[in-house]
Amino acid sequence: MTEGKVVVDERKVSCDGGNGALGHPKVYLEILENNQISCPYCGKLFIYKPSSAAKSVKDKKQLTKDIPG
Ligand SMILES: [Zn+2]
Repeated sequence: MTEGKVVVDERKVSCDGGNGALGHPKVYLEILENNQISCPYCGKLFIYKPSSAAKSVKDKKQLTKDIPG
């Protein structure tokens, strides 16, 4: 079993295993709120990272809110 990570900038992705003999029927996955999803067949992890995210400094502020500890 081959696991890997793929960064994508679209919420809809497809996976067919990628490696020929190790592949599986092509499936379409939609990345939801977690910004990531793993393929149920091969376990490949798709990480949603929109290329325009660099602009949104606002989001960073939300991430740096107070964390206890
Ligand atoms: Zn897969």
